[in-house]
Amino acid sequence: MEQKTYTGQPVITLNNGVNIPALGFGVWQMEDLNECENAVLTAIETGYRMIDTASIYQNETAVGKAIRNSGIDRDDLFVTSKLWVQDTTYEKTKAAFQRTLDRLALDYLDMYLIHWPYSDFNGAWKAMEELYQEGKIKAIGVCNFTIKKMDELKANASVPPVINQIELHPLFQQKELQEYNRENNIITQPWSPLGNGNAGLLDNEELKKIASAYHKTVAQVILRWHLQEGFCVIPKSVTPSRIAENFNVFDFELTEADMNTVRSLDTGKRLFFDPEDPAWEEKMLNAVADI
Ligand code: NDP
Repeated sequence: MEQKTYTGQPVITLNNGVNIPALGFGVWQMEDLNECENAVLTAIETGYRMIDTASIYQNETAVGKAIRNSGIDRDDLFVTSKLWVQDTTYEKTKAAFQRTLDRLALDYLDMYLIHWPYSDFNGAWKAMEELYQEGKIKAIGVCNFTIKKMDELKANASVPPVINQIELHPLFQQKELQEYNRENNIITQPWSPLGNGNAGLLDNEELKKIASAYHKTVAQVILRWHLQEGFCVIPKSVTPSRIAENFNVFDFELTEADMNTVRSLDTGKRLFFDPEDPAWEEKMLNAVADI
């Protein structure tokens, strides 16, 4: 297939030569399938071309419907989904991938990610490499991998991961992992880029000052910061005005001083789950998910 270009919007070229739109649309916590379908349709109509779902979000059918109803050619979209923890083994990965494709009603994925670095992720990666070689996935990557887990995966892999999707926003920046990803030619893809709507972040006084200087909102300043850091960013919203607001970030540029102000907001504290927390790992491994 010819390289996709996503005319009119910035792209990032992954380490295997595949282009991904730099700004996409996340759909976690869209449990209401009608709401999800409407939000994805609004996003595509707004101009978003990259959608980030996961089998555990249980909304792949709604995402697939929105894609079909959008009237946009499948090959002009970048669709990502994720392999859930209970399926993270060599034996289970291909069937889980096929269920994802069936729910989306697609015949290939642009990107497939291991959702958490648990269970037999090396075995799962091998199965994903085979699907990649067969052309059923255009790029393969991971989420929530620490440096240690990434080193282990890379030591066993023949295809290197293109992306590591991790919790990252101004309050929690993971600078060491960012640097590791850069050195290893892996794109950092922040999840919860707006801190999941965290009030402490969106009401931050320093960010408000920066936002007013550019006649932009705090959310737009944060997204612009992500883009200028070279991240591939996936804000989520079910609100049409915010869906538009979050995409309207390509007409201004933060100065290096403002970039540094945002960098200085790092607290080093996660808002969410720690991949190294044994209690979280245990919970995920025992979670019953009929997906
Ligand atoms: P975000 O950081 O994008 O924040 C979403 C929240 O912020 C929602 O409550 C939304 O409200 C609100 N919001 C969005 N835009 C604005 C705005 N302009 N002004 C004010 N509030 C706003 O959230 P997510 O936590 O959803 O992360 C993004 C995506 O990352 C997910 O959807 C998912 O695809 C991915 N992800 C991946 C994980 C992983 O383990 N790999 C884990 C978590 C997320 P509303 O919708 O009501 O408008």
